[in-house]
Amino acid sequence: MKDRLQKIRNEAIAQIKAAGGMDALNDIRVSFLGKKGELTAIMKSMRDIPPEERPAFGQMVNEARQEIENSLDTMKKDLAAKARELQLKSEVIDVTLPAKKNHLGHRHPNSIAQEEVERIFTGMGYEVVEGPEIEFDYYNFEALNIPANHPAKDEQDTFYITKDLLLRTQTSGTQIHTMETQPLPIRMIAPGRVFRADELDATHSPNFHQIEGLVVDKNVTFADLKGTLAEFAKQLFGEDTKVKFRPHHFPFTEPSAEMDVTCFKCGGKGCRMCKGEGWIEILGCGMVHPHVFEMCGIDPEEYQGFAFGVGLERIAMLKYEIDDMHHLYENDIRFLKQF
Ligand SMILES: [Zn+2]
Repeated sequence: MKDRLQKIRNEAIAQIKAAGGMDALNDIRVSFLGKKGELTAIMKSMRDIPPEERPAFGQMVNEARQEIENSLDTMKKDLAAKARELQLKSEVIDVTLPAKKNHLGHRHPNSIAQEEVERIFTGMGYEVVEGPEIEFDYYNFEALNIPANHPAKDEQDTFYITKDLLLRTQTSGTQIHTMETQPLPIRMIAPGRVFRADELDATHSPNFHQIEGLVVDKNVTFADLKGTLAEFAKQLFGEDTKVKFRPHHFPFTEPSAEMDVTCFKCGGKGCRMCKGEGWIEILGCGMVHPHVFEMCGIDPEEYQGFAFGVGLERIAMLKYEIDDMHHLYENDIRFLKQF
């Protein structure tokens, strides 16, 4: 009986030492100390032992039981420590490794140019007004004195949604909305996206941006227009910039002009930038046509005004010497990173 007890004890401790995990330890506990375990079975066989030897044998069984339990506890702690160590190793952070780079975006040259133009005009007391990109034919053409048979209304040039709805080809409609609803006088610029049925090439895109301006007040003359736009050109391209006006035709202004600025690269001497001319065409402008005022319910005898429109891409391309409009729309990060 004593030998059997010794054997069970040794076997239990050997199994515990070889156990690979908590589950195995638990199985060992059950198989030796459980209700149907081997040590429990030996207790039940006490009745086969002479009564005088029973207390001593009982003590031996208890000791064996205690040893097995201690061994189980020690092994449990060892296994837990090992598991913790493995976890720490796998979660280790090497603080000497280089940090992950945080990539900040860059502002698009169009956005920079737009903010610059807005800054100049708000500084002169102008309000920045936004209008709808989907516009009624009336606001895009008719109210701007562009008659039904005008070539700009051709489907070759304009994206029509229905007969009366289209993607605006200019932001001028915003000026009509403002004249119809806002009190006079008006000093506003309308920046925004416009659409034309053009193929994308180095200088054209079906989707580009305009900033158009409008002033309506009493006693406004062409001198006000010239002074305002000359100041704009100086702030945009530099203090030495000179401007000149060439007669032109727009349906919604009379008289109308195109404004050139002296080349900011060569100062007017002639270079590659200005194609040797010394001047760069920059915007269209003119005095608001009396008929446009009448359609908006403004008395042209009492009020005058001037309007101008500039292509945002043209400004961005000139200022940053971008030679191809594709760059502005292709989202090539190597290009955008330069700004
Ligand atoms: Zn030049």
